[in-house]
Amino acid sequence: MVMRNTTSMENGRIIAQEYCLVKPFTFIVRKRVIESIPDGNLLLKPIVAGICGSEMLYFKGQKEREKLDSRLPMCLLHEGVAEVVGSGKRTKLKKGTRVIVNPLIPCGKCWACRNLGENMCQNSRFMAANADGLARTFFIYPEARVIPVPPSIPIEVAALSEPFSVAVNACETAEIQKYEKVAVIGDGPIGYLLALAVSSVSNVPPENLYFIGVIDEKLDLASDFALTLNSVKEKMRLNSLNGKMDVVFEAVGGMAHEITLNQAIGLLRPGGRCIVLGISKGKIPIMMTSIVNKGLILKGSTRSRMEHYHKVLRLLEDNEIRGRVRRIISDRSFMIKNVKDLEEAFRYADTEEGEAKTKPGRVLVYFP
Ligand SMILES: [Zn+2]
Ligand SMILES: [Zn+2]
Repeated sequence: MVMRNTTSMENGRIIAQEYCLVKPFTFIVRKRVIESIPDGNLLLKPIVAGICGSEMLYFKGQKEREKLDSRLPMCLLHEGVAEVVGSGKRTKLKKGTRVIVNPLIPCGKCWACRNLGENMCQNSRFMAANADGLARTFFIYPEARVIPVPPSIPIEVAALSEPFSVAVNACETAEIQKYEKVAVIGDGPIGYLLALAVSSVSNVPPENLYFIGVIDEKLDLASDFALTLNSVKEKMRLNSLNGKMDVVFEAVGGMAHEITLNQAIGLLRPGGRCIVLGISKGKIPIMMTSIVNKGLILKGSTRSRMEHYHKVLRLLEDNEIRGRVRRIISDRSFMIKNVKDLEEAFRYADTEEGEAKTKPGRVLVYFP
């Protein structure tokens, strides 16, 4: 064990402060004593993390009751960068190395792991879903599940690797041909990064790529690589696209899930593919008969695999793509010194009721 920060040590042991959500809207500090670092593991200190919509569902108590009951208390935040501050035996990364944390630890053995890929693992641990996330001062994590941040990529951009990897995975799932017409519904960071992936990975030109949402300031961010459409203000234009899209991504979920899924079904041509990324609580009524009559393919896409992180880091080497990813970082960020700071950050980042409803970008939180 190698750490000499007196404020976080007690009798030679590391004391981690964990900011856990105990019930909706309420974080408390939990102290955890870290006695040693197991072989193959690192002691990490979070530096920066993004607040994801999936975590907002926990924060606001919009998950199923059973999930809240069985998973809380839990540390949120699963997209971010941490620094190596200690290491167990059989590890290579040096102290001071900054790493992107892959929030997924798959079992590697189940049918889904062997046949579909680690993102589909049915026994996985995933930060801020069924395992503690980055909202803590120190944590132990397997070295095999982190990737060093390349020197050319600033940490705030690297913090978006996880959502970008999710977008790249979904984009691959859709198997888009570059002459196809594609719509992305959802003007949040995932929708934006999906549009960016469709543009930069699938090479769909702006005239065939629609970025659909409800907030002009958010839509405008993609105006140089996609056609933007405000589905509240431009209902007629939206209707005129019905039946014309080859592929539609649904990246909204939450309270709007019924509306956005039915928009996606309406937009697709016969035989079109809908890739669903949005998540929400309970059952969603959808136009089933349209799916049948148009012979649509409706496919979920969740999380990403290690290969997608490497792909994202290669994409981020490109100046233009890096600049476009940087655009989706919120102007407002928060320094987290206590649970009140974290609560304030979550209230701000709420895209349904907080200030982030109209202000674009992933809200980043920094740990001192
Ligand atoms: Zn996320
Ligand atoms: Zn598995």
